[in-house]
Amino acid sequence: MAENTQEEPFPWHLGVFDAHCHPTDTMSSISTIPKMKARVLTVMATRGQDQQLVSSVAEDHYIKSPNPADWKPEERIIPCWGWHPWFSHQMYVADEDNSFQTQEKEGKNLQGEDKIRHYHAVLRSNRATLSDEDRRHFLSFPDPMPLSRYLAQTRTYLERYPLALVGEIGLDSASRIPVAPDADADADADAAVTPGGRDGRRLTPFRTHKAHQKKVFKLQLQLAAEMGRAVSIHGVQLQGTVFEVLRELYAGHERKFLSRRERKKRGIDEHGNDEPIVPVPQTSHPHAQPQPRPYPPRICLHSYSGTPADFNMYLNRAIPMEIFVSFSAAVHLGGKQPGFEDMVRFVPDDMVLVESDLHTAGPEMDDLLEVIVRRVCRVKGWGLEDGVRRLGRNWKRFVFGEEREGMGTGRSE
Ligand SMILES: [Zn+2]
Repeated sequence: MAENTQEEPFPWHLGVFDAHCHPTDTMSSISTIPKMKARVLTVMATRGQDQQLVSSVAEDHYIKSPNPADWKPEERIIPCWGWHPWFSHQMYVADEDNSFQTQEKEGKNLQGEDKIRHYHAVLRSNRATLSDEDRRHFLSFPDPMPLSRYLAQTRTYLERYPLALVGEIGLDSASRIPVAPDADADADADAAVTPGGRDGRRLTPFRTHKAHQKKVFKLQLQLAAEMGRAVSIHGVQLQGTVFEVLRELYAGHERKFLSRRERKKRGIDEHGNDEPIVPVPQTSHPHAQPQPRPYPPRICLHSYSGTPADFNMYLNRAIPMEIFVSFSAAVHLGGKQPGFEDMVRFVPDDMVLVESDLHTAGPEMDDLLEVIVRRVCRVKGWGLEDGVRRLGRNWKRFVFGEEREGMGTGRSE
């Protein structure tokens, strides 16, 4: 196409940021990160096998300051720790129903009949009763670990890396559980790929109950809230439930605005700055520390697959979190997401991010980022340099929590 031959050179020098990716799925690609054209990668963890890998990449490449002027050439990543919904069945949460309190207190994994009982409770299949084959499947899955032990480990990572985020976490109604690693020799033949993933693996008839996914999701959101970290969220076919969980967390903390009548009464010009009313902190003691808020300060709906109608609920000004949406070439282009352009147009300019969601670092990741940035800029009607600058500002606000330009964020409570 004529358009391609005359394409404007891509302004990498302005700083391009990948809001969501998985380079630790291919550890041999990590050495290419400092040579990449993209400036910073937001690197997700998803499962047992990659938590430590994200930490090892952070040791060499962590960005130590929110100020780009301080960034050294080797500082290239923001690490994120999370447990993906595809693997939420591998976690147990002790409660009255399952009486796993003793095991949880001792930090033990579940084995034998406990393990079968856990998987029977959190997984559903199209069979009504537990068959011998189901039991064999359950025993072949990893020994479920206490979520509390995982959260404690994640907390130590977040403490060690004050700019780290939480992700990838969320809900997924579509995914079936893959067979256990040992039972699928083909998928494990590729030694270059970090094990435990879902790609290319045979699938069992089981899916994780929504209630269990919600528990695992919510407890991770609460950790992010307590630590004041932004979150990268995966939500497939459950947009409404993702929102419901977030709303449960911020309920009672909605931002409040003056009514028209109130504004008039107080002599505020109708076209004046419509700042939210900042509630007076309710502390029993004048010198008490402010309580951490029960919801994360910022979230990104990564590779968002909802429609403008689905997304509309996030535009409610009462929501006290900052919301971002990231688009990827892998999910949104190539006809897989027909409403892509409508969605890009619908999301407010200061909420848009871009990502590769790729399993390997290097030139392929750069190429995907360039493709999605060019497309987003074209749909938004932004010039390329202007668009890259905007996307860069949005990414910095998502990760570091800078103030929204020219607008209060209601974050002073
Ligand atoms: Zn991802």
